[in-house]
Amino acid sequence: MQKLLVQISYIDNRIIDDYTVEMWHRTFPDDITYVEAATAVPIAFAESDAYVTPHRILHIVKRMRQNHATRNQHVERLQIESSWNGDDVPECRDHETPITKCDPCQHQLSAVAGTMNDDRLHEWAIENIYRKA
Ligand SMILES: [Zn+2]
Repeated sequence: MQKLLVQISYIDNRIIDDYTVEMWHRTFPDDITYVEAATAVPIAFAESDAYVTPHRILHIVKRMRQNHATRNQHVERLQIESSWNGDDVPECRDHETPITKCDPCQHQLSAVAGTMNDDRLHEWAIENIYRKA
């Protein structure tokens, strides 16, 4: 928690003492990992000039988890539809990475997933994401 607050202080120059660390610690649920919270810090600063609070960090972590879950659902669906087996996952063109492991391409897929039906999405992925065989 101290490490997290030190990161935050690099931007807003806040003073961190033991009480601050203790209160942040008590505010955070146990299941929030350091990595999640540390990822949320730059997002919080990028999104708003408001003073960064535990509430704000928790809110962003929750959103990140939801986005991640949604993305996984889309990818699972795509996997089932095209009947990939374990060794047969298509690679993306841009990063030559199995599509299930490529974060930027999964983001792209989930960004368009809401705008078209499943068949069209699969075609779109073949046109725009997958490496041509
Ligand atoms: Zn990729």
